[in-house]
Amino acid sequence: MLTVPRPPRPDNEIERQATLDAYRILDTPREAAFDDLVAIATAVCDVPIAMVSLIDRDRQWFKASSGIDVTETGRDVSFCAHAILDPGNTMIVPDAQLDARFRDNPMVTGGMKVRFYAGAPLLSVEGLPMGTFCVVDDRPRELTPTQRRALEALSRQASRLMEMHRVTRELHLQLEERGWYEQQLLHYQQELESQNADLAEQSATDPLTGLANRRAFARTLDAAIRDAAGTGSPLAIGVIDIDHFKMINDLHGHAEGDRVLQAVAEMLRAHGGAARGRVARYGGEEFVWLLADTTGGDAVAQCDQLRGDLAFAATGLPVTISVGVAALQPGEDVAALFARADEALYEAKRGGRDRVHLAA
Ligand code: GH3
Ligand code: MG
Ligand code: MG
Repeated sequence: MLTVPRPPRPDNEIERQATLDAYRILDTPREAAFDDLVAIATAVCDVPIAMVSLIDRDRQWFKASSGIDVTETGRDVSFCAHAILDPGNTMIVPDAQLDARFRDNPMVTGGMKVRFYAGAPLLSVEGLPMGTFCVVDDRPRELTPTQRRALEALSRQASRLMEMHRVTRELHLQLEERGWYEQQLLHYQQELESQNADLAEQSATDPLTGLANRRAFARTLDAAIRDAAGTGSPLAIGVIDIDHFKMINDLHGHAEGDRVLQAVAEMLRAHGGAARGRVARYGGEEFVWLLADTTGGDAVAQCDQLRGDLAFAATGLPVTISVGVAALQPGEDVAALFARADEALYEAKRGGRDRVHLAA
């Protein structure tokens, strides 16, 4: 339908289009900085129309314009699409009616009545033409050398503005990306911390019974002994050993033995109170109970209560325990206190089991 010669595509069109796309400037809102350049162009060149025109795939799109109210036209009728074929030079069309490329162009023959055109290519930093900074008049004319230099200077300024656009956008993206990475790092850090907490928990807990293990209990007891030494309050421990436990295993199997261990642990937890780490599984079928603020006599009474209640525990088996109790003596450390409790336990066993013995 068009009778006008179509502007040929530049040889590097693919690269050129990719560069333009990378600016992400097409179809962005109007900006005063570009409008100002266009206003200067119309004043300096004394023309009714000026624009910053970008050559997209099938259209020219105006980032800024003065004297026309369209924001884009087809590329086929675009003067600027011709101008970008020679990116190093400003294209001047003194009279479009006398130019074979343009005399049948609807912008010349139609309502816009274009006669004069001058377009200075807008170059990317790589030197690729993105479009032109152009001025248009409805009468044939020329630009003075000064006006031409001014138009070319304005074109360079517009190219710089576009470049600033691109850099600002990339910086923005980088900042966003950094924010995302920081989020991820924080997330991983929290995950690691919670895994560490899990590990710490596991390394302090006996897996079969869920009670504190020997190591965790040693820390708790050490702190409790220092507290008691500081305040002068009493403290006792009870070392608890299941009687003839080997026989339970032998008669009913190891799994049944494990269930008995869990039942004893449960009973001990109920008697030991809510304070964490006060009761622990000390070894195979041995448990330990820290009784803070408790005298030896009271500790014996509480351990005996435990021993009595165990007879009613839902183990399904006659399970008894022997307990050795030792009350903290002045200057005593963990090892010495334990040694005396162990000695008392041995006495309880020797005395016939199923009983509590207080260390001397
Ligand atoms: P005593 O009255 O003198 O304490 O006799 P005992 O049989 O309880 O003592 P001994 O030390 O001879 O046997 C303890 C048994 O506890 C031996 C071991 O197989 C068993 N045992 C240790 N840990 C576990 C465990 O986790 N599960 C089970 N089922 N048995 C265990
Ligand atoms: Mg034992
Ligand atoms: Mg035993």
